[in-house]
Amino acid sequence: MLLSVVVPLYNEEENIQLLYDELKGVLQLIRDDHEIIFIDDGSSDTSLELLRAIQGCDDSVVVVSFRKNFGQTAAMSAGFDYAGGDVIITMDGDLQNDPHDIPKLLAKLDEGFDVVTGWRHDRKDVFISRKLPSMIANKIISMTTGVKLHDYGCTLKAFKKYVIKGINLYGEMHRFIPAIASGLGISFTEVKVNHRPRRFGTSKYGISRTIRVVLDLITVKFLLSFSTKPIQVFGLMGLVSGGLGTVIALIMTIQRQFFNIPLSDRPLLFLAVLLIFIGIQFITLGLIAELQARTYHESQNKPIYHVREVLGGDTRE
Ligand code: UDP
Ligand code: MG
Repeated sequence: MLLSVVVPLYNEEENIQLLYDELKGVLQLIRDDHEIIFIDDGSSDTSLELLRAIQGCDDSVVVVSFRKNFGQTAAMSAGFDYAGGDVIITMDGDLQNDPHDIPKLLAKLDEGFDVVTGWRHDRKDVFISRKLPSMIANKIISMTTGVKLHDYGCTLKAFKKYVIKGINLYGEMHRFIPAIASGLGISFTEVKVNHRPRRFGTSKYGISRTIRVVLDLITVKFLLSFSTKPIQVFGLMGLVSGGLGTVIALIMTIQRQFFNIPLSDRPLLFLAVLLIFIGIQFITLGLIAELQARTYHESQNKPIYHVREVLGGDTRE
């Protein structure tokens, strides 16, 4: 069974050789059949030359080099595309994740889990700008997606191949893989892993990442819950809004017609009109999204379900 390790790298020249040595040492101990996939995410330093040299001496290393910086999610996505392993491990290239945790993750996969995620229980990052936003984000993501994890942000994760092959990543979504996977009915667990302070180079992210994560969370939540039935969300909002507007408008009409209460100088009238408009828009949006959902699934032959196995009959993959 081939084991693939995927490492995204962006301007990590001081870390690459140390990382390779440490990772290789661990992999040689646990499995002969392994490959390391380094993705150079458009680095502007000497990262690519270093990777080239390493690849020249070790056939088990694959280097994928991007033309420009496409971001960590894109880098990991490329890693998954080039990974041939039945088991795929992802980790950061800045030495913050500890390769010695890999056997722990693999042991959990052997227990039968499809996804194992690392939990940096003793995280070595700045509190205010990194740990606090991350704590809040983990709580919110766990609550919204229903997939309770302590640490979504930890890149050190292990996947069985079929999990990864069924998922397409966009935006900043690499952190949401466990949540997306749970939507496919896949089992997951987490293990505590070691986390080390960054010794060389700088972090590629600032506090602005929080906003991007929140936006992606909205997308993930929508895809998980409603992507096959958008009218159920938009239609419901439309009915509530339109219904409320209609009731207010009706009451005002009755007051005007039968009780001679004038319509002028009553802001409520505007609210009623607004609610009815929004209601109609939500419902039409829902219908358009229904068309989109059909195009999305049918054009790619993507079923709306995921089969584990089929017993008997005319079975096919
Ligand atoms: N990274 C990348 N492309 C980017 C940003 C980051 O490939 O655009 C890599 C980076 O080289 C590192 C990993 O993603 O290996 C995690 O990045 P970083 O350590 O900056 O994130 P943090 O640990 O601060 O959350
Ligand atoms: Mg880091």
